[in-house]
This record gives sequence, structure tokens and C-alpha cells, in this order.
Amino acid sequence: MSETARRKTDQSLSAPNAEGNVWPRQVCPAFTPRVGIIAPIPECWYCQYADFHLDRPRALEVGVCEWPKKVLG
Ligand code: SF4
Repeated sequence: MSETARRKTDQSLSAPNAEGNVWPRQVCPAFTPRVGIIAPIPECWYCQYADFHLDRPRALEVGVCEWPKKVLG
């Protein structure tokens, strides 16, 4: 992965990327951790609005921000 592409995947967002793609390590001010996570890290991966297919056998590498709709917990 190029340096530019890598930086984009870690980039903080100024607002939820509603109905758009989010990378696990991104985050925005609307971050809300999923219920039941002990010491959640503020990243889209742990956000209750992100759909990474965590309820399916194979999680997605790039998720979808469903804000303001909760996906899990
Ligand atoms: S998944 Fe959560 S933290 Fe990530 S952009 Fe959407 S609302 Fe923000």
C-alpha cells in the first residue's frame, strides 16, 4: 500500500461518513463504542454505527458507516 493510501486509511474524519466507506482505524466526533466492549479504542472498528459484518463469519476490511443508525449494540 502506498504512503498516501495508508495515510488515508488512518485519517480522522470531521463528521460521520454516513453511508460511505470507513477503514477500521478511522474515527469521527460521533464515535460511540459498541455496548459490551471493555476499554474501547476510539476507532470506527469499535463504533456501533460501523458495519464491518462483525455478525457474519467473515468481517469486512473496509466497512460502511451507517450513522445515525446503530448496527451492533
Ligand atoms: S463508524 Fe462511527 S466513528 Fe466511524 S465515521 Fe461512522 S460514526 Fe464516525
